[in-house]
Amino acid sequence: MNDSILSPLMRQYRDIKQGYPEAILFFRVGDFYEMFYEDAQDASRLLSIALTSRDKNSAHPVPLCGVPYHAATGYIAKLLKAGRIVALCEQVEDPKAAKGLVRREVVRLYTPGTLVDTEFLAPSEPNYLAALAVRLDTAQEIPIGLAALEVTTGEFWGMEFHGPHAFTHLLNEVARLDPREVLCPADLVRQSSASIQHITGARICERPPASFSRQSAVRALTEHFRVQTLEPLGCADFPAASRAAGAVLSYFHETQPTVPLDHVRRFTIRHTSEYMHLDGATIRNLELVKPLASNEPAAGVPPSTLLSVLDRTATAMGRRLLRQWLVRPLLHCDHIRLRLDAVEELKNHMQARTALRTALREIQDIARLGSRIVLGLAGPRELLALKQSLSLLPEIFVDLTPLRNQLLCDARASWDNCQDLYDLIERAIRLDAPLTIRDGNIIKDGYDPAIDELRKISREGKNWITAIETQERDRTGIESLKIRYNQVFGYYIEITKANLARVPADYIRKQTLVNAERFMTEELKELEERITGADVKMLAREQEIFAQLRSRLAKEAHRLDAMAAALSLIDVVAGLAEAAALHRYTKPMVTESGVITIQGGRHPVVERLCTDSVFVANDTALDLEMNRLLIITGPNMAGKSTYLRQVALIVLMAQIGSFVPAEEAHIGLADRIFTRVGASDNLAGGQSTFMVEMVETANILQNATQRSLILLDEIGRGTSTYDGLSIAWAIAEHIHDRARLGARTLFATHYHEMTQLEQQRTGIKNFHVAVQECGGDVVFLRKIVAGKADRSYGIHVAKLAGLPPGVISRAQAVLSQLEQPESARSESIQEQLPLTPESLPTPHPIIEEVKQIDLFSMTPLDALNRLAELQRMVRSDPSDR
Ligand code: ADP
Repeated sequence: MNDSILSPLMRQYRDIKQGYPEAILFFRVGDFYEMFYEDAQDASRLLSIALTSRDKNSAHPVPLCGVPYHAATGYIAKLLKAGRIVALCEQVEDPKAAKGLVRREVVRLYTPGTLVDTEFLAPSEPNYLAALAVRLDTAQEIPIGLAALEVTTGEFWGMEFHGPHAFTHLLNEVARLDPREVLCPADLVRQSSASIQHITGARICERPPASFSRQSAVRALTEHFRVQTLEPLGCADFPAASRAAGAVLSYFHETQPTVPLDHVRRFTIRHTSEYMHLDGATIRNLELVKPLASNEPAAGVPPSTLLSVLDRTATAMGRRLLRQWLVRPLLHCDHIRLRLDAVEELKNHMQARTALRTALREIQDIARLGSRIVLGLAGPRELLALKQSLSLLPEIFVDLTPLRNQLLCDARASWDNCQDLYDLIERAIRLDAPLTIRDGNIIKDGYDPAIDELRKISREGKNWITAIETQERDRTGIESLKIRYNQVFGYYIEITKANLARVPADYIRKQTLVNAERFMTEELKELEERITGADVKMLAREQEIFAQLRSRLAKEAHRLDAMAAALSLIDVVAGLAEAAALHRYTKPMVTESGVITIQGGRHPVVERLCTDSVFVANDTALDLEMNRLLIITGPNMAGKSTYLRQVALIVLMAQIGSFVPAEEAHIGLADRIFTRVGASDNLAGGQSTFMVEMVETANILQNATQRSLILLDEIGRGTSTYDGLSIAWAIAEHIHDRARLGARTLFATHYHEMTQLEQQRTGIKNFHVAVQECGGDVVFLRKIVAGKADRSYGIHVAKLAGLPPGVISRAQAVLSQLEQPESARSESIQEQLPLTPESLPTPHPIIEEVKQIDLFSMTPLDALNRLAELQRMVRSDPSDR
């Protein structure tokens, strides 16, 4: 921008904008926020508002768009949703008092992870700001760290990750967290932003490496928590987590200088050993919290995630906690049993459950209200909401009385009705108090003598006005004489033109209208001064008293936190009990054994979608011995994937402490659940489907243990038959063999050849999904039975899908040829058939080659290189055309 052609206003704009290159700058001009240049172009597109230009007729018009200041909130929310950040630039002096250009400053930077404004936030979703302390220049032995702040509730914690797969673990944790914004050192962004972006969809914010330094962390943490060293915080031995925490705090202070973080009272270190590590792919594939098709479900569409089926919570706090439980299943039987017992008791005790849920429905988000009180943002209505919520605590306490399980008894033992806080609000705040403190009328009569006095003056003053009106009417004999009020003139007497002759001499003329004149008297003026003086003083006093009250409540906010935690727990447990009762779930038995036995298991989500058909229940038996790896064959659409997912979901539900959709279930705990399901996506990340499949599989082979549960669905589908089958085969062997892995696995495949593995390995068993042929048609029975599928019925499915009859009949001809012994086949068909089912066990050089591969010691990159090599061999192999 050439300085000389800019107006002073635009020069000021440019100077301010330079400080916020990434943000859309909302530049306050009078009653509007205006945006210029690229900001205007972007904003007009994202907000669907008109793009115009400033200085239209000049040689250099400036693109411009604007929004009225009072409607800014909605527009800011929209821009944030579109992944942008917004800098709010205000006029910081009174334009009337300003000499020359009004001074302007950015007073707030709106970023997705730092929002404290409840109106921008989804009530049942947490809003995390995360930071990754990862140094690329150091050796692997140095741990890497993650910190997360949920500013609306004050939750703040860190984690550390060690070893060669530390970064993968960290990314998985980020996937579970699903933060809105992730702070990363600049060099990490350059190297790994695609993988971070792939797992979160959060805004990635590049930060200078110095903000992740130990020095900066110690300074930020000790200053914030008012301590001398990190020892009292318990994070001195967790340098990487502390560095991440420091980055979070400094970012927050930088972007929100006016928001004190007093409600963040603790920084805790989370230990990974307490929770099951679920990776991002598994959370997605099992559709725990989000459906795979990422579109928001429309109203009336049945739920499609485990969360939506299980969620019978009554409060937003409970909903957020349930979401956390779902992505962090437990690993210790004792912890799981505590939850299961609580759910059981409430499932059986319908009266207590109903009473609790009814009361909980009246409870507002105490966690977020508490934070807003500490932040000084809560308005009068929010205090009323808090009061109303607190009023239910004694009732909930009583509802808990008959319950004996430990989890809820512990909650009851530390119960706090917060009666004093209730009383305080009850005494002070009027029931009809307005939304904001700008409008007054907040404090009840009798709470503050000064307010009472001022209110009296104001009220009486208004009576006096009426008295004067009557008095002046009598004195002048003008029946239509009225005393009115407006903002500009205050009180005045209005006399119609026809009566002007009767106006007394002491009236002072103020204004002439078409039909009337307005007057003032000394007496009226005096009164007015008293009344408006009282009103102004009263508003100031009400605001002062309100602020005092809010600070008093803020000092007790830790008690609100504790009750918010207790209420969320009760809510989740009661909700799980309700879901269990509603959906006919049973209590699973959880043990440390390696056995998973499920009788009459159902898929919790698919069974809800079967409205006009019956969901067919299926059994499962997995152990660490003879039933380690189940190979499941069956035609497409038979129900293989559903079955795989159902087993994983039942195990996961048991481990979060929920009842399960089965007649009976015995769950020998899984330390992790891995899924490689379907030919999923991620072309966005620049990787081919097959590459994604292999990377995910490599991750499983590297991280699974004997105690893991693995689901593999159609491995190898993304490549040619030879490649795919060989890889699937080698993977099955690897997972089965105890010397290598030996994990419990469900392996669905369309390679019928793989069923031969049952004869070769003791722990492998064949199962298939039963179908019935009925006059040339195939009926899916949805039943999982022992043994291999005898046919694939692929042609049948192709027919269902509407392939032309000519293609279908040709396929049938080819198939019947294929099913004859090799010698009987016609030349022409043989030519087209590279692979026959019988051909497999005959050693093929490429298969031999694949068998030699030691997947366990390979990195994904090695695997890819090796694969490329194999593919070259295959392509030059005359049998593979
Ligand atoms: P596959 O993986 O074998 O191709 P899916 O698992 O995708 O098959 O199942 C296809 C459809 O069959 C599902 O969308 C579901 O509606 C239905 N289905 C699957 N299993 C069952 C079952 N046990 N009972 C009833 N319907 C089922």
